[in-house]
Amino acid sequence: MIVVASGNGSAGIGPALDILRAGGSALDAVEAATRVIERAPDDHTVGVGGYPNILGEVELDASLMEGTTRRAGAVAALRGYAHPVSVARAILEHLPQHVLLVGDGAARFAAERGFEPEELLTEPAAEAWRRKVAGLPPVEGEGGGKVPIGTQATLAQDPAHVAGTVNFIARDGQGRIASAVSTSGWAFKYPGRVGDSPLVGAGNYCDDRWGACACTGLGEWAIRAGVARSIVLGMEFGLTLSAACVRAMNDLRTLPLPEGARPVMNLIALDARGAHAGYALDAERDFYRSYCWQTADLDEVQTAPCIPV
Ligand code: ASP
Repeated sequence: MIVVASGNGSAGIGPALDILRAGGSALDAVEAATRVIERAPDDHTVGVGGYPNILGEVELDASLMEGTTRRAGAVAALRGYAHPVSVARAILEHLPQHVLLVGDGAARFAAERGFEPEELLTEPAAEAWRRKVAGLPPVEGEGGGKVPIGTQATLAQDPAHVAGTVNFIARDGQGRIASAVSTSGWAFKYPGRVGDSPLVGAGNYCDDRWGACACTGLGEWAIRAGVARSIVLGMEFGLTLSAACVRAMNDLRTLPLPEGARPVMNLIALDARGAHAGYALDAERDFYRSYCWQTADLDEVQTAPCIPV
């Protein structure tokens, strides 16, 4: 039994292991772990306290995947609910012919399933947003502004400094693997922008037979290269976990980037035998350059450096 997480996920590992030790499933464990971080207001990259989009609205993306069946649930651009991972779980359980709900449809489904709506924008996150937009020209239609919202969002974004995501992968006592990813995405993003976190195959992928991978970083990059799926497929094709991760990272280097964008990609991976690792593409920056993990026989969460590629 093991739980592996991105560097900001250590507080979720204990509750997840408690579930595994009590005989619970990997899927329950990753959901519970993710909820801990979604509830933490000081993590401005996930859930409550997440930085908002350019209009000051918090929009959340999340997914979770069960490696035994490869069932998955996901939500994107969800507003007003603190636990997108649990809404994603509800989609997996209760809308089995669906994988992903977005925006108003996702919120409607959350309400239908009895989730309580709440305010996600905390005062520190609102203040960061106000400081950011105060320095920008007003958008079209507001105070006579002429700048389209897309231009403003582009000016506001600083993905290399104000982004983040939480990742969890767990393997339970029956050898079942599950993975979960949750994020508020790029701070000050264009409304409706969806990153890799809720996209199965891009930011999250899990298959009991081979292993699992979850990503943080420039979501658009992970989407274009199908990073999480490519790593699990690499292991299926006989690569070691390490070779599969390095191959995927090097593949990212072949993608042209928009001017000014920084190549940021971090991931955690676990193979079917329980080997795990974290990898970081942009090794020069201190951005989740460690990951954490704990097995059921250990008393404390372990932190390990991500391997730079
Ligand atoms: N991958 C996330 C996204 O693109 C953000 C991050 O992990 O920094 O939404």
